[in-house]
Amino acid sequence: MQAPMTVDLNLPEDRVGPRVRRASKRVWVGGVAIGDGAPIAVQSMCTTLTHDVDATITQIERLQEAGCEIVRVAVPDRRSGEALKEVVRRSILPVVADIHFDYKLALMALDAKVHKLRLNPGNIHNKDGVREVVKRAKEQGTPIRIGVNFGSIPDKVDGELRDDAQRMVDLALSEIRILEELNFDNIIVSVKAFEVPKMIAAYRRLAKAVPYPLHLGVTESGTLVSGSIRSTAGMSVLLYEGIGYTIRVSLSEDPVMEVRAAFDLLKSLELRDQGLTLVACPSCGRADIDLIPLAKIAEERLRALPVPMKVAVMGCEVNGPGEAKDADVGIAGGVGKGALFRKGKVVGVFPEAQLMDALLAEIDKILIENGKEPYSQKAPKSTHDGELTPGRSVPAGTRT
Ligand code: SF4
Repeated sequence: MQAPMTVDLNLPEDRVGPRVRRASKRVWVGGVAIGDGAPIAVQSMCTTLTHDVDATITQIERLQEAGCEIVRVAVPDRRSGEALKEVVRRSILPVVADIHFDYKLALMALDAKVHKLRLNPGNIHNKDGVREVVKRAKEQGTPIRIGVNFGSIPDKVDGELRDDAQRMVDLALSEIRILEELNFDNIIVSVKAFEVPKMIAAYRRLAKAVPYPLHLGVTESGTLVSGSIRSTAGMSVLLYEGIGYTIRVSLSEDPVMEVRAAFDLLKSLELRDQGLTLVACPSCGRADIDLIPLAKIAEERLRALPVPMKVAVMGCEVNGPGEAKDADVGIAGGVGKGALFRKGKVVGVFPEAQLMDALLAEIDKILIENGKEPYSQKAPKSTHDGELTPGRSVPAGTRT
């Protein structure tokens, strides 16, 4: 008989849940702690013109409502630099000024009391200017993020032996050295790339090389679905290994979607808990309610839940309550009607048209039982009413 084949899978220790977070220094961005055991902070970036202060503030408020904790704004010119004071004064979130090349813009941002600078001292050619910026940032306690992006590192020279990840890491280390030589250590670092394996390798190596908290991201990751998947593919590996104290999911989308995607990623890894966690089945030929629009309606209406709650929307009673028994509350479809359940136990049966309201009323009950305000009156309206599950031409409950 042949001996069983042994395969070394090189698996991490047998554990359920992410690795203990990598130790790092603590950096404060306004009132938000980064690193040293702090919760992983969610960031986004405004798409507005920074000098359009009203539009920028409106977007910051929408981002904050979605859960964003730190917001970055671009400072490409003096006009944006001049607007920063007003943006910082009116912003509900800590503001990061994104600056390239011109140290004077960094000084303007410091004058405006921004909460963090994102700049690479290596791309500011005026070295006295760099010294002045760093001295002022130190006096004001303003942290600096060194943000290396693969797209902006120098071209490979002939005979270059280092791989791309190492070239990013080495550039980050040289930028860090410029700050450290000026006795500055209030630093956050990122080494982002579009290619996920490259980005993972760069962050892993950087995590071993520096004591600073790392900001994770996959650059130019794309539109909503493909960009969220690409970002998750890269960041989840690192987050699960305990690497990364702040994240941004970069999407070619309304930045509010970046925040939603970031929290879904963190909640999936059980690294943060916030508001709604929706458990929804994919529907199939057994479903007797229009499950897919119902799941979208539930997601939209419960988006602003004030406490963490797992809510299930299942297509049929055969598998519904049982498969979603971990959920705090949920609904499962039947023929033209559906069951309302709590922790897998059915607590009522309602016509399909009333199911969503019954779910909201049950959520209100749970909130009141826990000493919280009811939610249903504040719930956002749905934009999916009347939709059908894809592939079905008649409303649910009318199957013949
Ligand atoms: S819960 Fe029911 S409807 Fe949904 S996928 Fe499973 S079997 Fe199909």
